[in-house]
Amino acid sequence: MRLSQFHLATVKEVPADAEIASHQLMLRAGMIRKLAAGLYTWAPLGLRVLRKVESVVREEMDRAGAVELLMPTIQPKELWEESGRWAKFGPQLLKIKDRKEQEFCYAPTAEEVITDYARNELKSYKQLPVNFYQIQTKFRDEIRPRFGVMRAREFLMKDAYSFHLTQESLAGTYDAMYQAYTRIFTRLGLKFRAVEADTGAIGGNASHEFQVLADSGEDALIFSDGSDYAANIEKAEALAPTTTRPAPSAELTRVDTPTQKTIEEVAAFLKVTPQQCVKTILVRGAEGLVALCVRGDHEVNEVKAGKLAGMPGESELASEEEILAATGARPGFIGPAGLPAEILVIVDRDAAVLADFVCGGNLDGTHYTGANWDRDARVTRVEDIRKVVAGDPSPDGKGTLQIARGIEVGHVFQLGNKYAEALKATVLDENGKAQVMLMGCYGIGVSRIVAAAIEQRHDDAGIIWPEPMAPWRVAVCVINPKNSPDIAQAADALYAELKQRGVEVALDDRGLRPGAMFADMELIGIPHRVVVSERGLAAGTLEYRARHEAEARAITQDELFALLG
Ligand code: ATP
Ligand code: MG
Ligand code: MG
Ligand code: MG
Repeated sequence: MRLSQFHLATVKEVPADAEIASHQLMLRAGMIRKLAAGLYTWAPLGLRVLRKVESVVREEMDRAGAVELLMPTIQPKELWEESGRWAKFGPQLLKIKDRKEQEFCYAPTAEEVITDYARNELKSYKQLPVNFYQIQTKFRDEIRPRFGVMRAREFLMKDAYSFHLTQESLAGTYDAMYQAYTRIFTRLGLKFRAVEADTGAIGGNASHEFQVLADSGEDALIFSDGSDYAANIEKAEALAPTTTRPAPSAELTRVDTPTQKTIEEVAAFLKVTPQQCVKTILVRGAEGLVALCVRGDHEVNEVKAGKLAGMPGESELASEEEILAATGARPGFIGPAGLPAEILVIVDRDAAVLADFVCGGNLDGTHYTGANWDRDARVTRVEDIRKVVAGDPSPDGKGTLQIARGIEVGHVFQLGNKYAEALKATVLDENGKAQVMLMGCYGIGVSRIVAAAIEQRHDDAGIIWPEPMAPWRVAVCVINPKNSPDIAQAADALYAELKQRGVEVALDDRGLRPGAMFADMELIGIPHRVVVSERGLAAGTLEYRARHEAEARAITQDELFALLG
């Protein structure tokens, strides 16, 4: 590619809402541009990288025996009613109507559509197992779209769905997908961990998340320093030994002028609808924490103990004794509704903390009384409200637990018969008897991977791409081509030769001053840079610098070709 004919759009300034390095660098490098909250245009440079990721994912899915198809992004309401998720999925589901007033949603995922396809296409056990995948746009109306394409509303996902007659077969494909994901993230040059995830509301037997390790990650992971045990925080909490708990917190502070807040007021404060306000609530007692789920119809009188990120209405009702046991709170701190309340944290279903409030009093059924309604209350990060702490013994008894932060880039799931049963997706078995199929589902955040890689690999000058993701492997920079036809010619010849050898190369023939040109190539993260200059030409060498090395050095053209393999 001749950069004079490309649209490279690097900029110096980034908007203040770009908080994390990857978001800033993607904007500065001209990879993405914001259209509206959570909606991004992939500029030409960004798209080259996105396509690289996509092709690695596609190659490994194909290698693992999955077959590609492409489903619509607009899905009919009726299918979602069959699965029961039209009502249950919540406000992330973007619902739309056509001109005939027929209702649809924009796909946040595709279990319903693929199960419908499977029930029509698959008739016999002989067609199983089969694993369908697509690389397709998804839309989720995230409550807090942020960090650019990391948590966007519209994003690119690879989603695969496998169908089976037996659990054994499902476990086999699950394992093949696990291996394929391991190959994908290894090939992409990322530091990652596969962690056990809670199967939670979806049920099923097994689930793993693939987490790219990064301090800016929204997820907390737990791993053992003495074994292979690794889990996300929800899963780890479910298994956590209860012996280690945070030290008792300070005495409750009573507020003398009580104010009352209804769920509607909470909603207005959070700028969400009352329905969206139905969340997991964490209450910190005198010691420790308890997670409480408020019912989906926001009758908050009925408060149920659940776990962090549990779905409303699906957890067990907790008695006062249970809350006391779970929190270690002293009875004196239990309010009229049986709830100890010092700090109230409102968390969405994905455990992203929306807001927390310091409550000086008790959480009563329908309103918060005695509450110190502090708009600027600090936002508590998930790690601050965890129950598992570093140094706890590992659940497998080997070693102690360590905590790291991660970015969820992939998620594999054994779904079992949940969707196939709801949608009556059956095949005939060997005896000619109809059997409900078993399913697995396997997602990868293709667009999120781009941002996650930058989080892990950057320096002050810009992005440091792993080679398989780089927009080009080599940049050929030409110094003052206008002053010397020889230089322009030599650069052209090198560019042609590299292309001939199948190396992806960008020729920076934009005529920029060397400093600006080098800064751009570093910012956009090209792994290898060579400079064609008058001095080098006279000496028969090129100035070469690897992106991750501090110093440039002189090499011959043949050495360059050898180095690029
Ligand atoms: P998260 O916990 O980050 O909200 P999720 O668990 O809701 O993700 P899944 O339903 O498991 O997501 O979807 C599969 C993959 O899609 C995720 O592992 C993630 O990489 C990606 N993904 C999910 N939501 C987004 C988003 N809003 N923006 C970009 N990628 C996303
Ligand atoms: Mg998740
Ligand atoms: Mg989510
Ligand atoms: Mg997930």
